[in-house]
Amino acid sequence: MPLYHDRGVVLRTYKLGEADRIVSILTRGHGKVRAVAKGVRKTKSRFGGRLEPASHVDLLMYEGRGELDIVSQAETVDAFRPLRDDLDRLAGAVALLEAADQLALEREANPPLYEMLVGALRTLATRDAPLVVPGFLLKALALEGYRPQVESCGACGESGPLVSWAMEEGGLRCAAHRQGPAVSRDAVLVLQHMLGGRLSAALDETRPPVVSEVDHLVVRAFEHHVERRLRSVGTFDRG
Ligand SMILES: [Zn+2]
Repeated sequence: MPLYHDRGVVLRTYKLGEADRIVSILTRGHGKVRAVAKGVRKTKSRFGGRLEPASHVDLLMYEGRGELDIVSQAETVDAFRPLRDDLDRLAGAVALLEAADQLALEREANPPLYEMLVGALRTLATRDAPLVVPGFLLKALALEGYRPQVESCGACGESGPLVSWAMEEGGLRCAAHRQGPAVSRDAVLVLQHMLGGRLSAALDETRPPVVSEVDHLVVRAFEHHVERRLRSVGTFDRG
């Protein structure tokens, strides 16, 4: 069987038999790959704890004949330890992994999505920023081609003031073309930062009402497009 090398983030794992595990990995060069990690659940596993969800790993894999490849070697690039020691961060990491899992296609490389996921996990692990997950979701939507219009009214093109979120029509609206839920000025600014290449500025926003508002808007937009409820985002969303 041909061997290949790639780097990826473990999205989820499933038990297989007594000692093995199936790992779903978002790789840089091969998209979403499912592979068998043999003996991973034995105490003396040569993979150790390297193939846990959210782990960033260097992989050597055999190409399987069917759907499943086989992990031959796995070396840790970054285990993102801080994510595992804090419940809020863990919930955020789970939300990121589920969102990436929903967007990634099997065996179809999507390096920007992979890079965004690694970046978001790193930020989540190193920074107290409650908007990391919404920032990832919104940028991931834009990457998918569903970039909401946040700089000007979707109906008339006026730059402001923008007062509502007409999500199904594709973005923010002015008072004259108001549609959908009301949006505060602070939330508008955060959305503009997120999609305007100023994610770091967006992540500086930590005031709970603004965080909660942006989180709601972005999660709704994301769900609208993937048409599936992100259960883990529900736990992240504390109102
Ligand atoms: Zn308008």
